[in-house]
Amino acid sequence: MIVRSGIPLAPHTTFHIGGPARVFIEADTEEDIRAALGIAKRRALPLYPLGAGSNVLVKDEGVEGVVLKVASRDIVFEPGNDGSYRLIAGAGVRWDAVVDTAVSRGLSGIENLAGIPGTVGGATVQNIGAYGAELADVFEYADSIDTTTGALVRITRAESAFAYRSSFFKESRAHVIVRVALRLTTLGTPRVGYPDLARAREAGTPLSTPPEIAAAVRAIRSQKLPDPSEEGTAGSFFKNPVISDASVATLRARYPEMPVFPQGDGMAKVSLAWLLDRALSLKGYASGPVRLYERQPLVIVAREGATASQVDALAQEVARRVYDATGIVLEREVETFG
Ligand SMILES: Cc1cc2nc3c(=O)[nH]c(=O)nc-3n(C[C@H](O)[C@H](O)[C@H](O)COP(=O)(O)OP(=O)(O)OC[C@H]3O[C@@H](n4cnc5c(N)ncnc54)[C@H](O)[C@@H]3O)c2cc1C
Repeated sequence: MIVRSGIPLAPHTTFHIGGPARVFIEADTEEDIRAALGIAKRRALPLYPLGAGSNVLVKDEGVEGVVLKVASRDIVFEPGNDGSYRLIAGAGVRWDAVVDTAVSRGLSGIENLAGIPGTVGGATVQNIGAYGAELADVFEYADSIDTTTGALVRITRAESAFAYRSSFFKESRAHVIVRVALRLTTLGTPRVGYPDLARAREAGTPLSTPPEIAAAVRAIRSQKLPDPSEEGTAGSFFKNPVISDASVATLRARYPEMPVFPQGDGMAKVSLAWLLDRALSLKGYASGPVRLYERQPLVIVAREGATASQVDALAQEVARRVYDATGIVLEREVETFG
């Protein structure tokens, strides 16, 4: 276990932004995590578990707390019956490495989630989703340390409360994930109905096997999303709004072409990217070194030297403009640390 003080957090995030952590701990084992909890309790500091920092915005003043980077990095396969496999990965394993390992064995279940930055722990907290799949589809259980008791507990699928970019772990804030078990299969059916994938198939891209789908998803993503090694970003900054069917009807009267995805419970998800681009003409909108990405306006990108306050100011302005135009209150997908 490595314990340090005053460590700048910018290099630990994909925004490359943010001040120092009062205490920064890298933990490999359950014992390390418990020791980190002990340090936070003794110093009366809040605990901030951190993965690859690809979904956080760290404040310029830094974090007056204990930032705990979980570094457990094992991947284990357990064969089951009927062509299924359980893949157990440490919370600190890079998510895309898990995808590579799975698809190279011909296992399906997570190939549509190829290319998403971050760790297995962060992916579970966020219930990552893309191209018609979510982590929740394959989640079996997570072993996590309950930060109130220090006990290792197993959170099962039934307890995980997965929802759109949300989970039990995100809501409770009282668990540090140590490892996650996923249920994969050699007998999966390719999920290629998502518009971008369907278009790729029509254009002749082979999409029959998990490696082919993962490769196609990575190729599509590289056309649409910024590369965090070139410009700071945490991907989609806001969630797509989920609003009532009645509100959709009102908006549709003004924006007949607005894409809507019914959720089946009197609610519907609307495309925020469409609203920002077509209703508000905000694609590429910039304020100083921070802007809405030209190819996907849900994504905020920050040039070198940008500050968290500048990102926050742009996000607030976007939220205000969306509210003024539509009455929709935006929810952030990216979490602020500090
Ligand atoms: C270019 C780009 C593209 C992206 N594309 C997508 C996409 O297609 N779909 C999508 O869903 N997301 C996407 N994201 C967002 C992000 O990559 C995911 O949310 C990712 O899963 C976050 O993982 P992380 O390890 O970086 O988590 P972090 O950002 O470090 O943390 C995120 C949250 O998880 C918590 N956390 C992290 N590890 C643990 C742990 N071990 N135990 C308990 N809590 C923990 C943190 O406290 C925080 O609340 C994208 C981001 C970028 C930069």
